[in-house]
Amino acid sequence: MSEPVTPPADRAAEIAANLAEVRARIAAACARADRDPAEVRLLAVTKTFPAEDAAVLADLGVLDLAENREQEAGPKAAAVAGLRPESAVRWHMVGRLQRNKARSVIRWAAEVQSVDSTRLAEALARAVSSARESGERTGPLDVLLQASVDGDPARGGCPLDDLGGLADVVIRSSDLRLRGIMAVAPLGMEPSAAFARLASAAQRLREHYPAARELSCGMSNDLEIAIDYGSTCVRVGTALLGGRGLASP
Ligand SMILES: *Cc1c(COP(=O)(O)O)cnc(C)c1O
Repeated sequence: MSEPVTPPADRAAEIAANLAEVRARIAAACARADRDPAEVRLLAVTKTFPAEDAAVLADLGVLDLAENREQEAGPKAAAVAGLRPESAVRWHMVGRLQRNKARSVIRWAAEVQSVDSTRLAEALARAVSSARESGERTGPLDVLLQASVDGDPARGGCPLDDLGGLADVVIRSSDLRLRGIMAVAPLGMEPSAAFARLASAAQRLREHYPAARELSCGMSNDLEIAIDYGSTCVRVGTALLGGRGLASP
């Protein structure tokens, strides 16, 4: 897009206003659903936006940031650490991940929400294990299982019926910590129908693994519905930072 470069002060004010609006939407949705807003994490999706925008979010107290492409995220996380060395930003990977990126993703991501196959889970566990052995990191990696509500393999995610088997693989590794499930509402399905199915999958998972409490669903357009169905983590890009243009992922 060929808009003029916005002066930083205006950009910061714009992001602050967007954030106030998103927080108000979350609060209103929680009130309607009779839920405590503290149960719903806000994950700011900074993909395609510069490190400076991520730093503004950190200044505003949004410390959970997410990216969907490994190649873009690593350098951006490093740049934000340079801009705000004192801030306690946590990065989350929410996009499709190739197994050969396991080693690089764990250098910047505190949590990977897009674990959708046993092979990926095993690759991440191996990467964490060797990073622990070499002293590069101390703790396990937080992971969410990415569920596919419609089972369409082209869009990533693990079919709902296979989540239990995938969870068993994650649980067996001392290098991974199972936190819950994540999903994107499929195209061509009512969000409420998709979130209802997800909510029951999340409930089944919690029955087996009480610590796997997170249900990461809801984005700029459907966060209210997701909160109504029990989302504990909404992932918001556009409503905070603006449109990404036609070529955006
Ligand atoms: C881009 C993205 C989001 C944010 O979407 P918006 O509609 O811009 O809020 C959330 N989750 C994932 C996995 C994404 O790739």
